[in-house]
Amino acid sequence: MSELIVCLPKVLPRSQWVSAARMASEINPVNHPPIERLMQAIPGFSPHPLHIAVLTTKYWHTRGVRLTVGFLDNPSKALRTRILSHMNAWNKTANIRFVEAKTNPQVRIARTVGDGYWSYLGTDILSIQADAPTMNLESFTMTTPESEFHRVVRHETGHTMGFPHEHMRRELVAKIDPEKAIKYFKDTQGWSREEVEQQVLTPIEESSLLGTAHADPKSIMCYQIPGIITKDGKPIIGGLDIDKSDYAFVGKIYPKPHGSRAVKPTEKSSSKRKKSRRRSS
Ligand SMILES: [Zn+2]
Repeated sequence: MSELIVCLPKVLPRSQWVSAARMASEINPVNHPPIERLMQAIPGFSPHPLHIAVLTTKYWHTRGVRLTVGFLDNPSKALRTRILSHMNAWNKTANIRFVEAKTNPQVRIARTVGDGYWSYLGTDILSIQADAPTMNLESFTMTTPESEFHRVVRHETGHTMGFPHEHMRRELVAKIDPEKAIKYFKDTQGWSREEVEQQVLTPIEESSLLGTAHADPKSIMCYQIPGIITKDGKPIIGGLDIDKSDYAFVGKIYPKPHGSRAVKPTEKSSSKRKKSRRRSS
């Protein structure tokens, strides 16, 4: 178990944060954080675009997402089909499809050895240059155990769909060596001490006011931590497959057309999406 590689999602370079956040909010207005209400409530409050960017989520639109997928290193047809089938496992409850494409694929999968498992988050993949990977599945072959396809391919696909890591429970945070973690995330992600404290060292019990309403430690998106920053040297693996609450949540973010929260077809034809404000608070 201690040999398992865990995931470290990729973050765009800081210089792209503002433009990528703007694009995310255009693709799905729900990505834009509720800054305007704060600005009305607090006179003189004027957040920096970089702060807004940090708070912006990266979900795709809700009208049925179809993302094209390409492979950068010519894996066999059997492996391509197998990876695609695990990516599309999310389609059980979500209106999202991954289809293979030879030209200009939006999701680009590499298998670079030593580079680990990662994906950029949701609409951020549109900011990556066209010949560069948006996901890495280090060393995946047809002999990789089926359980790893469940644990890794589905997890990385979750990131590509815009899902960040679930917050950690206190007992998981307690296993992390803070100084090792601060050095590790500084070296690999360029994060500051404060960012590591917020992102990695703050348990859900304390961060839930700003985070998701409830953490699911069995979620496929549960935070994964490499063994080199834990006190006992063992990695924290997180969820091993898409669980019930993952399926329920993704169905709300990307509702199926016949679901209770389906979007009316007429909204699709609106070319002035940006100008339409549902609420004038
Ligand atoms: Zn991850």
